[in-house]
Amino acid sequence: MPARRTPVELCRGELRVSGSALHLDARRRVECAFVSHAHGDHIGRHDRTIATEPTLALMRHRLGEPKRRKTETLPASFRAPFGLGELTLELFAAGHVLGSAQIRVTGRSGVALGYTGDLCTEPTHAAERAEVMACDVLVLESTFGLPRYVFPPKDEVLAAVRRFVDDALSDGYTPVLLGYAVGKAQEILKYLSGAGYRCAAHPVVHAVDRVYEAHGVALPNVRALPPEGPAAGEVVVAPPHLARSPAMRGVRRRRTAVLTGWAIDGARFFRGADAAFPLSDHADFPSLLAYAKATGASRVLTVHGHADGLAAALRKEGLRAEPLREQAQLELL
Ligand SMILES: [Zn+2]
Repeated sequence: MPARRTPVELCRGELRVSGSALHLDARRRVECAFVSHAHGDHIGRHDRTIATEPTLALMRHRLGEPKRRKTETLPASFRAPFGLGELTLELFAAGHVLGSAQIRVTGRSGVALGYTGDLCTEPTHAAERAEVMACDVLVLESTFGLPRYVFPPKDEVLAAVRRFVDDALSDGYTPVLLGYAVGKAQEILKYLSGAGYRCAAHPVVHAVDRVYEAHGVALPNVRALPPEGPAAGEVVVAPPHLARSPAMRGVRRRRTAVLTGWAIDGARFFRGADAAFPLSDHADFPSLLAYAKATGASRVLTVHGHADGLAAALRKEGLRAEPLREQAQLELL
């Protein structure tokens, strides 16, 4: 017996708006996809790609120019509704990395489906501030969806990073800060360079910096890390997996800190580092709960990460919530 239409489906690991060709952050090549942001686990080459201009620019940087003639990009702006077949789409800032967007999809039934992508509700230094997306059914990311993930206020975390940098410099070390090349690195560079620190970015980070700068995020006092290493007094920023890469050979007397929300989990994330700070570009657990309520959604479907735990917590708060399962048979409202 055919099941009733669901607002969104998870098929072979890919999210798709039911009854349409519109996928959400598909990894495999699909006919039409909304790409929420340019992190590697959310992008792919599609026949038609809907994303913000900064996300499209970051995707071109990461994937290169599309070779297939059939490939089409549909740049979209925040809060500017547009039609796609029978659907009305509207993007809202997600506050995660530059250009990151949530999407609200309204079909003929009038039910508004909201998909957050990766979300950070706390203001960031190098991304658009997240907006609340009112919707009926919310598909909510769950990366830090367990009660133990409570981050200190960002100002406190950044102040602690700054103390780490100051201590390293005054002890004669080069401070090395490790964060993802897209987003985290630019946030710390923006914060430190704005405070007058001179920074040297790993070439992989610096290439992304240029895309940020082209979209209005000025990064003064930042240069590419030269092969001979940083000058005295410079702060080095690099991606965690490239901390020991050839480009870092010139960074000799170093003191290293990892910047990640997973620092909450403790020492195992210090591997080879001297410190870890919970600087996150995702919402923490209380923020996810608060966000779900703020959207006014009468139903929440959790995806990515701790989907079961977050759904259980949302139910405790009185919301109708469940993790989105593969080929879930859910009814429309
Ligand atoms: Zn992401």
